Amino acid sequence: MALVNEHYLKLAAGYLFPEIGRRVNDFVKSHPGKKVIRMGIGDVTQPLAPAVIKAFHEGVDEMARKETFKGYGPEQGYEFLREAIAEHAFRSRGASVSAEDIFVSDGSKCDTGNIQEIFGNENRIAICDPVYPVYADTTVMSGKTGKIGKNGYYEGIIYLPLTAGNHFVPEFPSQVPDLIFLCYPNNPTGAVASLEELKKWVDYALEHKSILFFDAAYEAFIRDETIPHSIYEIENAEKVAIEFRSFSKTAGFTGTRLAYTVIPSELMAYDKAGNAVQVKKLWNRRHTTKFNGVSYPVQKAAAAVYTDQGKKEVQATINYYMENATLIRERLSHCGYTVYGGENAPYIWVKTKDNMPSWEFFNLLLHKAHVVGTPGSGFGPSGEGYFRFSAFADRDNVLEAMERIENL
Ligand SMILES: *Cc1c(COP(=O)(O)O)cnc(C)c1O
Repeated sequence: MALVNEHYLKLAAGYLFPEIGRRVNDFVKSHPGKKVIRMGIGDVTQPLAPAVIKAFHEGVDEMARKETFKGYGPEQGYEFLREAIAEHAFRSRGASVSAEDIFVSDGSKCDTGNIQEIFGNENRIAICDPVYPVYADTTVMSGKTGKIGKNGYYEGIIYLPLTAGNHFVPEFPSQVPDLIFLCYPNNPTGAVASLEELKKWVDYALEHKSILFFDAAYEAFIRDETIPHSIYEIENAEKVAIEFRSFSKTAGFTGTRLAYTVIPSELMAYDKAGNAVQVKKLWNRRHTTKFNGVSYPVQKAAAAVYTDQGKKEVQATINYYMENATLIRERLSHCGYTVYGGENAPYIWVKTKDNMPSWEFFNLLLHKAHVVGTPGSGFGPSGEGYFRFSAFADRDNVLEAMERIENL
């Protein structure tokens, strides 16, 4: 008799985005001809930069000739790309990251989920609430939790509430976690963490021999020069932090696929006898066993993001999205909404009026303004009463959506 992995049976049934899709489809079916504007899902809308496309084509042409054809590449990623990342994403900001400690992959979603398997199930994991759902779901799948409770919390996870009161940066919990997921700039709240706030968490991890999983998928959207882009801008972070980065939002690679994880050589975890084990060594073992690298043309395309032309073009697209964010922020606050985020992140986190529940506000916007956003409660119980707007949209649609909301 074949047995399933019962941890999967603990997962809460309704995943957020399918539920949104279902409600939107029902509305469209019963209201044919109405134009629905989607500002819900966190996916980019602008095409790849010309410099990236040029390198992508060159990579494909190389694969077409016997002299330049490439088979399996290095599992950790081509050195030309890892060197470019180390230089342009880290050293240029004063964070010393070695190309040797970078692992290229096909996505941060996979990396933030897969990282769990090199850590024992006895670890206590801390996760923010609200949160990018992948961290919690993969923690459940890996077997580190009990069942989900009526409050929407899984037994065994230490939840760190993100509220307006703590500016959406968590305080230390009463129980000390071993592994801590942090995401800044934050999805879904659009908040950023200052150097001092990140330093507090690095020091906390050093004190407790804990490890930070730092997801910096949105670092390219930071405009305030005092905000760190990388956890490695904090002293001693290389001893306690893994950083996840992705080209998905930065350079529009959601459909092209390229990301990377940094695991510094200095980072240690422990066996039950208390002996230090190099985390990078375990991840390298996993990566080389279960992964065979990202396609060569895609790695070549990614490296072009760091050329002068690539940088300029990618920045122009980010500016476009951030102009959307500014518009959304300003127009919604003008309508009397309290808005957070949207200044150093492509998400705007809006408090509903009169504590209206998130899903009720979703239905109101869908039926009265034909605008789709994401209910805050879908990201966790502390998101109740909030709503997320994404700045990944076309300008015309943003303007029309804001006008419709103003006319509600
Ligand atoms: C979009 C996103 C990612 C990127 O995931 P990919 O698999 O690289 O596309 C990572 N973390 C967060 C919080 C995100 O919102």
